[in-house]
Amino acid sequence: MALVSYCEKYIELLPVKQLQELQLKCLNNTIKQAFNAPYYRNVLTEKGISELTSLKQITKLPFTTKADLRNNFPYGFLAVDLDEAVRLHSSSGTTGNPTVVFHTQQDIEEWQNLIKRCLYMVRARSSDIFQNMMSYGLFTGGLGLHYGAEKLGMLTIPIGPGNSKRQIMFMKHFKTTIIHILPSYALRLAGLLREMGIDLDKDLHLRIALIGAEPHSEEIRRKIEKLLGLKAFNSYGLSEMCGPGVAFECELQQGLHVWEDHFYPEIIDPQTGEVLPEGEEGEIVLTTLTRQAMPLLRFRTRDLSKIIPEACACGRTHRRLQRIKGRDDDMLIINGVNIFPVQIEKVLMRIPEIGTNYAIHVKKENYMDKLYINVELKKGISSGALKELEALKKRINDELKAEITVTPHVQLVQATSLPVQEGKAARVYDHRAGN
Ligand code: ADP
Ligand code: ZN
Repeated sequence: MALVSYCEKYIELLPVKQLQELQLKCLNNTIKQAFNAPYYRNVLTEKGISELTSLKQITKLPFTTKADLRNNFPYGFLAVDLDEAVRLHSSSGTTGNPTVVFHTQQDIEEWQNLIKRCLYMVRARSSDIFQNMMSYGLFTGGLGLHYGAEKLGMLTIPIGPGNSKRQIMFMKHFKTTIIHILPSYALRLAGLLREMGIDLDKDLHLRIALIGAEPHSEEIRRKIEKLLGLKAFNSYGLSEMCGPGVAFECELQQGLHVWEDHFYPEIIDPQTGEVLPEGEEGEIVLTTLTRQAMPLLRFRTRDLSKIIPEACACGRTHRRLQRIKGRDDDMLIINGVNIFPVQIEKVLMRIPEIGTNYAIHVKKENYMDKLYINVELKKGISSGALKELEALKKRINDELKAEITVTPHVQLVQATSLPVQEGKAARVYDHRAGN
């Protein structure tokens, strides 16, 4: 394919058989390295595992869970001497207590290279101006992209999230071409641009957005692309693996390539732990293949997706994950029916009169679960005639019912009236006992 260009051609196009040979070699090195960590030394010694002779044998290794990480806080997973560790990061704590991750200098360099590879894949170049709107600090989104962007040679602006007027001022004056941003924040920023009367073509130079860190639907991506006049690429990562850079969409935007020279992906049935065949949906399990400071074996991410069985037309041999559906603990069970918030989002974003924010409330009333969805109207529609709003509400109710099979109670509210968060969006409020 003539249009595709590769950052590390040899490794990105490595034939599958060779890639698997490399993975097996790296996996055995990782097991060896893991023996240096107090937690794995115990577990692996108990299981009597020191080497695998095929990738299939990975199922002999035990899973590692977030609970294992927490129970062995602070240093139980550290596999190098402290003087070799140079950085500590932590998960954002979306679910439960945060977990910590360590890196050596080499780990950091590998991570930078991966980010550079991702950026180059979506056609970022050293001439680009990169505005990094993810938070810096323990969260991996900010620093992770920062160093990879510098490695690629882009002028990198470490502005972090928030203060939208300042963001826009920087975009205008420094002619920002690439932004890294939470999808929920991208939508809010787009609203402000419109309010301020900014002309996307005349006043700004945006061409690419890297979006990730929270589940979002294809419909939200398209909305961001339209509202900001750019192409938006899905970026998946988690601090336990490194952060961003684990899987990234290529220019074709059809699934996220997992960089298999660094991570070995499996999809399992979250109930039984059984490995599922390619194409079946389940929980993503990842094993680090090159990490020194903190190797992780078969880490259960709790994120739901599937491996796309077909090869990608871009030519890269690293397998693709489908857009993340959510975490298994995002799933709402409403009177016995399983619903993911992104299913609701997908429907809402197809309706032109709807704005960009919504909130889901689940309550128990007379022993029954009730699903309330508060939906912001698009700016300017709020003052419409009552009859039209009633008709709109009915339409939304019907379309949602067709998708999720549960009848929701939709409430239409004015634009920008629902709560927003600085970090990852929280749009689901479960008020039932125990939640
Ligand atoms: P926390 O698990 O506390 O949120 P992290 O900051 O490590 O900590 O976030 C990683 C998690 O964010 C992933 O496990 C996943 O649930 C979510 N995530 C990251 N990127 C994406 C993405 N592109 N799409 C959907 N969810 C994502
Ligand atoms: Zn591809």
